[in-house]
Amino acid sequence: MNFDYDLFVIGGGSGGVRAARVAAQGGAKVALAEEDRYGGTCVIRGCVPKKLMVFASEYAGMVEDAQSYGWDIQPGGFNWETFRGKLYAELDRLEAVYRNILKNNGVETFDQRAKLADAHTVELADGTRKTAKHVLVATGGRPVKPDLPGAELAITSNDIFHLKKLPESILIIGGGYIASEFAGILNGLGVNTTQYYRGAQILRGFDDEARGLVCEEMCQRGVNVHLGTNILEMRKEGDKIWVKATNGEENLFDQVMFATGRAPNSDGLGLENLGVELGRRGQIVVDDYSQTAVPSIYAIGDVTDRVNLTPVAIREGMAFVETVFNGNPTKPDHELIPTAIFTQPEMGTVGLSEEEARDQEPIEVYATSFKPMQQSFAGRSERVLMKLIVSQENRKVLGCHIVAPGAGEMIQLAGIAVKMGATKEDFDRTVAVHPTMSEELVTMKTPTRTG
Ligand code: NDP
Repeated sequence: MNFDYDLFVIGGGSGGVRAARVAAQGGAKVALAEEDRYGGTCVIRGCVPKKLMVFASEYAGMVEDAQSYGWDIQPGGFNWETFRGKLYAELDRLEAVYRNILKNNGVETFDQRAKLADAHTVELADGTRKTAKHVLVATGGRPVKPDLPGAELAITSNDIFHLKKLPESILIIGGGYIASEFAGILNGLGVNTTQYYRGAQILRGFDDEARGLVCEEMCQRGVNVHLGTNILEMRKEGDKIWVKATNGEENLFDQVMFATGRAPNSDGLGLENLGVELGRRGQIVVDDYSQTAVPSIYAIGDVTDRVNLTPVAIREGMAFVETVFNGNPTKPDHELIPTAIFTQPEMGTVGLSEEEARDQEPIEVYATSFKPMQQSFAGRSERVLMKLIVSQENRKVLGCHIVAPGAGEMIQLAGIAVKMGATKEDFDRTVAVHPTMSEELVTMKTPTRTG
């Protein structure tokens, strides 16, 4: 049978664009449909604008520190409109880069929503139908709000970049990556920031000691973190939003933001009718090669809800192309993924937490927490953490956890060693880079705990 294309990709985010480009470079005839902006969550409403906001929010502290270092400068005010204008221009530039990648590689694009009509047919919003030998669904995810009275008054991370002006006060609900990152950002920009998290400690699933330190430092810097607290109801009161919390408190905020998780974008794609299996959270169920229950349909990235990170979606996209177009069946590797949480302070992590490792085998824990030179000189009391989890049996470093300025940059490199299976002794025989914070990773001699 003759198809219009070898591959039709639905979704122009990081994963979809990468798969389309690599398949086209290999000689496949490829089309891609995107209903919104090219670049997807990461570029348009996630990682990229978020990180730029992190940078923006750190300057107030830097100016204070500069004074301690002898600079005669005064912090001025932060101009949200100026920043937002530059942010929009940068996102426009990046979106154009994504479009050009597709164009320059001969991928035909359709700026409209697409859904599946059958196992090999994609129907565009204008009714046009296109056939393809393979279809790749890479539609990502979206923020979800809990169902409670007044929830429509709250914003999500999608809206935060578009605020007309910065609120004087904000309540952020949730304790995951997004809630904790934006609590730091908004606090740094001078917004009076409160965070409610229903559990005992933010960043559930990460190393207890590391997330404990992040939370402590966030509080030190002025974020009003309420643990074991959730929102019960909210309503408009004048210009403000009145919120009742589970701890009985009633407060007024200018804005409320839900960062209570994300859901896969699998609705309305016609998947169920074709026999593509959807999981309990709406995620597309795929095998190790990203293939769905319908052999011609594959799915990658957040819509499959495996490990919801941009570089993972990109890897899944490349493995898909390798498998389907290069005759080389390749499973994306989901083991030992290093990741950073851009809280303030930042956390970088790879491998098992102390708690997970202890459940698995006898371990040694090497950890040190100290005041780093740069901040200590500036009179700050903040602490950093360098931590290694080591297997007693084979001496391998099972986990590395860093809470420090620049932890994201550090964990990328430590991640290589951990991925290679480095032992504690390999770390030890590496000469320290002095004076740095991360040199502690190679100079810790005595276990803090064993067990
Ligand atoms: P997460 O799933 O990480 O966190 C959701 C948070 O909301 C949890 O603290 C959860 O609590 C809480 N929550 C869920 N439902 C409710 C509810 N009904 N009421 C109150 N609280 C609730 O989602 P995020 O939105 O923070 O992030 C989504 C994903 O995006 C992440 O998992 C990550 O993969 C990715 N991401 C990665 C980033 C990075 O790499 N730096 C940055 C941003 C996002 P509980 O813990 O009790 O379940």
